[in-house]
Amino acid sequence: MLTMVEALERVMSAARAPLGERVSLAEAHGRLLAEELVCTRDVPPWNNSAMDGFAVRHQDVPGRLRVLETIAAGAVPTRVVVEGTCSRIMTGAPMPAGADAVVMVEKSRTEGDHAVLDSDAVVDQHVRPRGGDVAEGAVVLQPGRVMGPSELGMASSLGIPSVLVAQRPRVAILSTGDEVVEAGWPVHSGQIWSSNTQTLMALVREAGGEPIHCGIAPDHREGLEAALARCLRADVVLTTGGVSMGDYDIVRDVFSDMAFWKVAIKPGKPLAFGELKAPSGASIPLFGLPGNPVSCMVNFLEFVRPVLRTMLGDPRPYLPVRSARLTARIGKRPGRVLLARVALSWDDAGLVATPTATQSSGVLTTMMQADALTLIPLESGPLDAGDRVQVQILRWDWARGAHHQYPQ
Ligand code: AMP
Ligand code: MG
Repeated sequence: MLTMVEALERVMSAARAPLGERVSLAEAHGRLLAEELVCTRDVPPWNNSAMDGFAVRHQDVPGRLRVLETIAAGAVPTRVVVEGTCSRIMTGAPMPAGADAVVMVEKSRTEGDHAVLDSDAVVDQHVRPRGGDVAEGAVVLQPGRVMGPSELGMASSLGIPSVLVAQRPRVAILSTGDEVVEAGWPVHSGQIWSSNTQTLMALVREAGGEPIHCGIAPDHREGLEAALARCLRADVVLTTGGVSMGDYDIVRDVFSDMAFWKVAIKPGKPLAFGELKAPSGASIPLFGLPGNPVSCMVNFLEFVRPVLRTMLGDPRPYLPVRSARLTARIGKRPGRVLLARVALSWDDAGLVATPTATQSSGVLTTMMQADALTLIPLESGPLDAGDRVQVQILRWDWARGAHHQYPQ
């Protein structure tokens, strides 16, 4: 049986490099950048005023100055500010030659074609310097960066209308089991509605991939192979169920090449990983995930998600890990890494982890309660209330309301 770290090394070596596709900025939201964005024009492109007011020579104020012109945002100054003069200027308008500071309009009074400015000034006061946000030639965004609101605004302010982003890896999802039926269809006695298909579809989407629903395969070889043939246009294939020791657990038989099928983690020991050969000769990574809904999710999060994130060019493909204090004992025997489900909260001493009521791998409700999974090492025994534990954050719901008060 492989350790978790060994298994991760094997699966990560199957992650292909990101492939790019060009999309408009509107479509780029939430995608990962697959190129460097370089600034080709200073932002802002010229010294400009940060205030509505008067562009002056700093040494001329306070004083009474003749107003040469009014410079609106979008206009170009036509006059040089010389001793005894100034120009009215609006926020964002280019600074006129000769002026080196701005006095805000609140500190002024108009007398005919003169302005009385009763404030002194220092050089560059209320002036936004050319290139002060980004200088020409600077690398503004690196590959792997998620295009969020500020990144999209930045790309746009550089004049870039479209960007190269990583293609979403296509992930085929195939449930297996004679007992498993798609929701919406009638179930006979002995059958259950599938949960794994919809869970995996959502997990793939959350990871940045494009899920392909490939239905449910029966527990016999010809049926399973026919169903897998529908999965071959994907970059990664996921199956669920049929990888344990049962008489009808046949998923392992359909791998073209299997690297391993057991990992020393709990929950979810049976995880088969290897490849499928497409008729074209290409090999496609195949994950045989366990059928138990919790094991299925946990194995996806630990092994499939980092592969998908790597294919997207994410420089940090793993879930974030923090240290938390346990509120209750967690039973454990040495031999497997324990990924126990915990709810998180926050107190004055930091992050607090409370194990869910059961750790059974079939109880999906516990995944709805869990904000994180523990990472308790292979050789560790049980942990007690008050012990510190490393937790992998799955979601941030617990952080809501933790600091909900605005300052007065
Ligand atoms: P298996 O590994 O095929 O023996 O499945 C283990 C357990 O997971 C069994 O109780 C199955 O009924 C259940 N299971 C398998 N596939 C699914 C699925 N798609 N949705 C919900 N439960 C499933
Ligand atoms: Mg089965």
